[in-house]
Amino acid sequence: MSAATPRIVYLNGDYLPEAEARVSIFDRGFLMADGVYEVTSVLGGKLLDFAGHFVRLNRSLSELDMPPLSMTEAELLAIHRALVEKNAITDGMVYLQVTRGNPGDRSFEFPDPATPLTVVLFTQSKPGLADNPQARTGLRVISIPDIRWHRRDIKTVQLLYPSMGKMMAKKAGVDDAWFVEDGFVTEGTSNNAYIVKNGKIITRHLTNDILHGITRAAVLRFAREAQMEVEERAFTLDEAKAADEAFITSASAFVLPVVEIDGVAIGAGEPGRVVPRLREIYLEESRKSAV
Ligand code: PMP
Repeated sequence: MSAATPRIVYLNGDYLPEAEARVSIFDRGFLMADGVYEVTSVLGGKLLDFAGHFVRLNRSLSELDMPPLSMTEAELLAIHRALVEKNAITDGMVYLQVTRGNPGDRSFEFPDPATPLTVVLFTQSKPGLADNPQARTGLRVISIPDIRWHRRDIKTVQLLYPSMGKMMAKKAGVDDAWFVEDGFVTEGTSNNAYIVKNGKIITRHLTNDILHGITRAAVLRFAREAQMEVEERAFTLDEAKAADEAFITSASAFVLPVVEIDGVAIGAGEPGRVVPRLREIYLEESRKSAV
């Protein structure tokens, strides 16, 4: 797609050039961050883990007492596919956001549930998404306090603190930040966090304290299928610094090694043996089941 070709986005039933897609200033997403989102990766023109993202989206809506989507999984998949095709996406992402809509004025109270949800989808083209050089170099992270609210299991668009975390990392000259609460790592700013110790993969158990990553679920499943040992429990920052390997997962980063935390080298300070293998398995299996 040439730079002159406008991106085609989806807004409430219409496919529009991006500049023509307009949302009200009274939209609850804009005024209250009252919205949820999903990011689904595209590799080779196909969507990864779409079914998982659909399930989590519905759960996020229901946990916030938003009305259910008026479309089926097949209909939402068709919209994703149409956008991938219209924008000639080979590798990249489809971003989806659903807000509680436009009540016509600003008010803290939720509007009448008959208020239509705002549904927006757009694509981001990332040629070579799976060939990220960070897979070879690994990421350096800093730790920062986790001061987010306590419903991190809901994928809301309240991303101000994660944004600030990324800026703190940038200022510190590193790649990302890991959140720490009561001495324990919760997750990364936009990813789940893991360590590897004596061959065992350790990652925080699922509660409202972290997002239930779709990539996390897939990676843990593949790891167990490959006879790797997995332990789902909280781990401390000190434990992470003393780990053999560390890594993160997310829908758009897949699996990436973490080689340094707060200036402390993890293992040999370069990607080890377990994490690159997990990345390879994840990419291979996900491509196979992409739709
Ligand atoms: N935790 C947080 C805070 C995130 O923002 C994300 C990515 N959206 C993840 C974990 C990873 O989730 P997923 O694998 O579903 O992308």
